[in-house]
Amino acid sequence: MLPNKRAIVTGGTRGIGRAIVKELASKSCCGVLFSDVAFIYNSCDECAEELQQEIHNPATKILAFKADATSLDQAEATVQEAIEKLGGVDILINNAGITRDNLLLRMTEKDFDDVINANLKSVFNYTKAVIKHMIKQRYGRIVNIASVVGIIGNPGQANYAASKAGVIGFTKSMARELASRNITVNAVAPGYIETDMTSKLSDEQRKKLTDMIPMGRMGKPEDIAKVVGFLCSPEADYITGQVIAVDGGMTM
Ligand code: NAP
Repeated sequence: MLPNKRAIVTGGTRGIGRAIVKELASKSCCGVLFSDVAFIYNSCDECAEELQQEIHNPATKILAFKADATSLDQAEATVQEAIEKLGGVDILINNAGITRDNLLLRMTEKDFDDVINANLKSVFNYTKAVIKHMIKQRYGRIVNIASVVGIIGNPGQANYAASKAGVIGFTKSMARELASRNITVNAVAPGYIETDMTSKLSDEQRKKLTDMIPMGRMGKPEDIAKVVGFLCSPEADYITGQVIAVDGGMTM
């Protein structure tokens, strides 16, 4: 067996991030057990403890770090500690994100700034903190969780759409900057996925949404996690700078 890969996942306690942590901790491929995982969360301590207990895999280390992903200082300190405890970093999944929806006329400056900081600046923070290590070892896999809303827009989500469009531009620029160092950078753009983030939708909004999805249903966190796992696996070694929509056909 080759040694485990070492992954950092932001926003790992709930929804899509939680499914990604589980996928990376259980996936095995080509003699590599994916993966030792350090996950970052912001507030839900019980969610972090629960997740650590849920993953019963004695072959993998699962570490939890409480940190605000919007802070570069905290990102750098967290990455440093994770690297010391895991022995390095091979994979970064930028998943942490929030919504603060409103029509622009009613959207406050704080709603705009909070979403840009949590969804876009966090991607800058963690990418900046890991790449010096990845460049040195000439290997890295970075996957950013964007959204179909960053591609097609959505009324009431100008802040969110702008942050996710920013993530896509950032992904492509990083892919170009880092390709020669054997670091791939891709984005996954989920459609509507059943998580806490979408649990506030009314039945009427849910019906409207599913009518727009050719597959006729919302996705599950695992639908996203599988694609993230693939992009981190050796089968995807020649894929970089791509945005893969996982949306039941919504944006085809
Ligand atoms: P979720 O269930 O609300 O979970 C969000 C996660 O991010 C939580 O673990 C939360 O930690 C963490 N987080 C939020 N702000 C943070 C911060 N400042 N620092 C550190 N951690 C922070 O969301 P989700 O639906 O799984 O979404 C995950 C990602 O997928 C987001 O980037 C979202 O934009 C994207 N996405 C979701 C959908 C969807 O339909 N659900 C669609 C497209 C894209 P705490 O619980 O500790 O706060």
